[in-house]
Amino acid sequence: MSAGFAPEATLARELATLAQQGLARQRRELGTACGAHVDVDGRRLLAFASNDYLGLANDARIVAALAEGARQWGAGAGASHLLGGHLHPHQALEEALAALVGLPRALTFSTGFMANLAVLPTLAGRGAAIFADRLNHASLIDGALLAKAHGAQVRRYPHNNVAALARMLAASTAACKIIVSDAVFSMDGDLAPVAELYALAVQHDCWLLLDDAHGFGVLGENGAGTCAHLGIAPDARLILMGTLGKAAGVGGAFVAGSEALIETLIHRARSYIFTTAAPPALAAALCVAVNILADEEERRAHLRALIARLKARLKGLPWQLLPSDTAIQPLLVGENHAALALSQALWQDGIWAPAIRPPTVPAGTARLRISLSAAHSLDDVDRLADALARHAETQFSNQEKQP
Ligand SMILES: *Cc1c(COP(=O)(O)O)cnc(C)c1O
Repeated sequence: MSAGFAPEATLARELATLAQQGLARQRRELGTACGAHVDVDGRRLLAFASNDYLGLANDARIVAALAEGARQWGAGAGASHLLGGHLHPHQALEEALAALVGLPRALTFSTGFMANLAVLPTLAGRGAAIFADRLNHASLIDGALLAKAHGAQVRRYPHNNVAALARMLAASTAACKIIVSDAVFSMDGDLAPVAELYALAVQHDCWLLLDDAHGFGVLGENGAGTCAHLGIAPDARLILMGTLGKAAGVGGAFVAGSEALIETLIHRARSYIFTTAAPPALAAALCVAVNILADEEERRAHLRALIARLKARLKGLPWQLLPSDTAIQPLLVGENHAALALSQALWQDGIWAPAIRPPTVPAGTARLRISLSAAHSLDDVDRLADALARHAETQFSNQEKQP
């Protein structure tokens, strides 16, 4: 832009280096609504790139509720929740969410990222210690960093390593301890050992913060989430975070927990207090979405059928699916350029399965993140499997030709 501005030239050099490492990122502009089939640059693509696990993002009933919500409640909330921006649909949504997940209260946030920035710094100040899984979502990591700035200690344990966590907890003298984990890991699709984490939380008198962004709506009876799926009855130590832009199809997030926890967040959480409430129409649409999500068990049944089909069809490929029973089915490729090349080859076939590379995942574990949705058909999964089988063959016959 302005010639000779050195900091900008530095940025340009850093971006060029990222591109050389196969780490350039690109946004794709969709010309159609979220769905199994989307238009990009005038081409129709079969997409495995959303977190719309139940196919609700473009559900006519939710769209109608959004439009009606705007007519009744206006376009904007006009203020933060504490300053007059807490409208009836916001309250109704909180009550519906708390009832669904079986906790006394829920509090909604504009995004999951903001919810995760709220909890840890509010609960963990000087004298507190946070114990976090190494593969936690970026927003939990940043929440922990904010808590650290308030004086909390932050320890990270190896992914799902309960024994290591137990040793850290036993060695800690912190007055307030918080165990923090994704319930379903966003780039691996595996579950946290929630029952074991819960037992440790009881033993060591800790809070347990679970981020159920990918389990809420997808797992458990009525889509109540990972705890319901695992048969874990929540108590006062559980802080459950869920997002509303994935399975619920709209946007936003919530934290559910005990009365005192939620009341404390309302009084102290900066990313709750110092921000305008989400438009009430979104909350109205979410009330309908949460009802649909809870009622339509067949969406989860169809999703499970798609997962089973994908696993059956991808056996015998040179790339392995990571062990996951959730809608997130990562196909491990390894090297950045190879993952990118496979993703691009599929793109040529009209199939969108994004390559996920570092820093989102550890170096050497670049992958295709195949994300299934109830909006997909079994034929859609077969088309992806056929294409991957073709590319596996070409790749291997090419390798054999090399000396
Ligand atoms: C998507 C995601 C978030 C952030 O939620 P948003 O509502 O999209 O901001 C938080 N945690 C996990 C594990 C996620 O996958």
